[in-house]
Amino acid sequence: MQKKKLGKTNLDVSVIGFGGIPVQRISHEEAKLVVRAAVDKGLNFFDTARNYTDSEEKIGSALKGLRHKIVIATKALGRDKDTMEKEIELSLKNFQTDYIDLYQFHNVKTEQDLEKILGPGGALEALVQAKEQGKIRYIGITGHVEKTLIKALDAFEFSTVQFPRNYIEDTAEKELFPLARKKNMGIIIMKPLAGGAFSNTNLALRYLLGQDYSTVIPGMDTIEQINANLDLGINFIPLSKEEVIKLEQEAQELGPKFCRRCEYCKPCPQGLDITEFFIIHTYFKRYGLKDRIITRYNNMSIMADQCIECGICETKCPYELPIKKMLKEIHADLKI
Ligand code: SF4
Ligand code: SF4
Repeated sequence: MQKKKLGKTNLDVSVIGFGGIPVQRISHEEAKLVVRAAVDKGLNFFDTARNYTDSEEKIGSALKGLRHKIVIATKALGRDKDTMEKEIELSLKNFQTDYIDLYQFHNVKTEQDLEKILGPGGALEALVQAKEQGKIRYIGITGHVEKTLIKALDAFEFSTVQFPRNYIEDTAEKELFPLARKKNMGIIIMKPLAGGAFSNTNLALRYLLGQDYSTVIPGMDTIEQINANLDLGINFIPLSKEEVIKLEQEAQELGPKFCRRCEYCKPCPQGLDITEFFIIHTYFKRYGLKDRIITRYNNMSIMADQCIECGICETKCPYELPIKKMLKEIHADLKI
């Protein structure tokens, strides 16, 4: 597996890293098999988060005995010093380690968020202190709102920035990533498959592997995914013109307003499985599974028309999707 320097840190990371969200869906035993298979194929960068339920624990226990050759990155939503101190201790416990290589501020959205983190008694103090104590090695930041992260990069010398980037989403290439490169920061690519929206994983990942990023971290929870994705980083083959056209066609079909399955919108007070509606609607529109999807939808105990339009989900969606309106369209398409 090819490795790259993670910005100005002294860490070398595999060009394909491990996104920790899907590990939540599988058992501890399965997680161990998947994680070990990834390490056997040369992947050394694992990224997860405190709030991905038991993902830290599963990855941590799967990596027992391998710590010396692995780079662990995690992140937490703590915004004040006390909360962040506790988050760091929990991460250390979950990973069964005495240091985390990269600790990141998770999903920094607003300027208020940033002010809280950087201000007196803010979470940055906890990370700086943990770094001095040897509990963490480097400090990074993640998010979906470019202007907030640009402000953050101007305000503090972070080692890394993690931001969504895929064939459709290239906004970060205008200002954020050039700034990160100027500062010699590591660039970690999340949502490389646009939350699973790209059906051709091979093309979507190879597109990114051909760009100037430190590591690309698709979520993986099966051995098949590990083998298919990691082979692309072992024998990288740039996209041909025909393959770029194929990706472009898929991007056109998806359009700009689609769900990336990040699940930040959840929970819905009415119990609607918002992401599931978007997933099955995509299958309905794109993959010729109309009858099966209509049956599936009409068997759901809570359908999209149960939305009371409270709008809570829309305030949490980092992509500012008009969820209420989209749910109405889904119901109109699928209800019989
Ligand atoms: S707007 Fe509808 S889907 Fe969104 S949180 Fe409210 S009830 Fe749930
Ligand atoms: S609707 Fe928005 S917040 Fe919810 S999963 Fe999709 S992209 Fe994420």
